[in-house]
Amino acid sequence: MFYKDSQQIYRAKSLASIPWLIHGFATRHADIPAQFERLATLKQIHSADCIFADGRTGVLGQGDALIENEPGAVVAVRTADCIPILIVDEERRVVAAVHAGWRGTVAAIAARAVQTMHERFGCPPADLRAAIGPGIGKCCFEVGPEVAVQFGAQGRTRIDLEAHNLRVLLEAGLKPERVEASGLCTVCMAQDFHSYRRDREAAGRCYSFAGIRQAVQ
Ligand SMILES: [Zn+2]
Repeated sequence: MFYKDSQQIYRAKSLASIPWLIHGFATRHADIPAQFERLATLKQIHSADCIFADGRTGVLGQGDALIENEPGAVVAVRTADCIPILIVDEERRVVAAVHAGWRGTVAAIAARAVQTMHERFGCPPADLRAAIGPGIGKCCFEVGPEVAVQFGAQGRTRIDLEAHNLRVLLEAGLKPERVEASGLCTVCMAQDFHSYRRDREAAGRCYSFAGIRQAVQ
């Protein structure tokens, strides 16, 4: 279950219970760069490339997933219809922020992030929690045949990116009870979210972020 708090940020209930974790899916009304002095982002290129933040801040190069285990630094992806995904290992204190548009979804970037967390930090996929944040819903994501075929569909059709990313995470080894999805559509919810499909070049970007608190027991 996702809920919006007084800071105009959506939180995933399953992640909000982790004491050391900073996380959120910001609406267009929350100024995330102003809130975090140590913020890391990427030049997002619709790839399946995962980058280690290693405590660095600023724009850390090109890629679509940022992984961090250093306390005090926050990693974020910026979206306007693409799907933001946060992945957390509660035990080992590792976080990932993932940007999955349709290309990244087809490339299974969320699974690449899970594998990378496993390789570098020994995070067992079955231990991970994930939250799939607000993005373009099936209600609004009509695509042409050239995109449909990438999802095993044909002709003009509607694609459910949230459902596809859920499947990617489960196939990567996450347990169904440890993954939650927002069900929130960025195109429909103009009051809360930027949307490229709705606003085109005028669209801003919303931040989805995760980090490890500096000083918790
Ligand atoms: Zn919609």
